[in-house]
Amino acid sequence: MARPVLALIVCATAAVAAPAWAQGQPAPAPQRPQIATTKVEGTDNVYVFRNGNHQSIFIVTRDGVIATDPVAYGRPQGGAAYVAEIRKVTDKPIKYLVYSHHHYDHIAGGHAFKEAGAKIIAHKRAKERLAVLADPATPLPDETFEKKRNLTLGGTTLELTYVGLNHSDSSIVMRLPKERLIFVVDFLPVASVPGRGMIDFYPLEAEQAIKQVLAMDWERLIPGHPGPGDRLGSKKDAQDQLTFLQDASDAVKVAAREGKCWEPAEKEVKLPKYEKWPGYENNLQFVTRRYCGLWGRGT
Ligand SMILES: [Zn+2]
Repeated sequence: MARPVLALIVCATAAVAAPAWAQGQPAPAPQRPQIATTKVEGTDNVYVFRNGNHQSIFIVTRDGVIATDPVAYGRPQGGAAYVAEIRKVTDKPIKYLVYSHHHYDHIAGGHAFKEAGAKIIAHKRAKERLAVLADPATPLPDETFEKKRNLTLGGTTLELTYVGLNHSDSSIVMRLPKERLIFVVDFLPVASVPGRGMIDFYPLEAEQAIKQVLAMDWERLIPGHPGPGDRLGSKKDAQDQLTFLQDASDAVKVAAREGKCWEPAEKEVKLPKYEKWPGYENNLQFVTRRYCGLWGRGT
């Protein structure tokens, strides 16, 4: 009696193990490399450096390189790997490293840049926060600014602007006026639902900040996390993210006034208009929680 049972188990295992593509489905996409450096289409000298699901930009000018966010949190060799990627493109000195805001998942790993001779620039509030926390992987900025700072190097200007509170109290907008590009980290994700970043988020002020970004002169937005299919954002994407936040705010306000913050609201609030955006299933609860803080607690 034992033999037929065994045969049945073997057959069942074989059926489960058969991959979908072997049954006529498309083959799975090859795995993405951990690190990739890509020149931004339509530019001569602007590159996106990606490490895992984080990315930043660097600009090569005739007098040196302006780099941004090392994106090396939890990756002790990540900063050196970034410098090595820059070295594949140019041997010009790395003059600046700009921090987008003070969160380690974007800015840990700066020592390799300091060793290469870069000066670190950030918003004043970023330095204040980093000084208190003293993370060994994150060197303090050498120079800070409050409202605006233009970095000009070898014929390229990178304009740094503080647009007030949004995601963190130290986020800046980096704009390349000639290329009509902006690099914005975490507070304007491209066609996706923000997640744990909502832990450090100022809901009312963020709307004003996004309106200021919309009023700037730019065409394409490079996000700090790759957008769907790695595409860059447009003004429509920025407007859509603002509308998403406003829709979430309105929905949670109703739930909050029915006494549903925190938990019932986190389970019940749905925004089906955005269900196709990456992160919808997993992240909407974080968005709801933050707006519950606002409308359910007044903070
Ligand atoms: Zn952040």
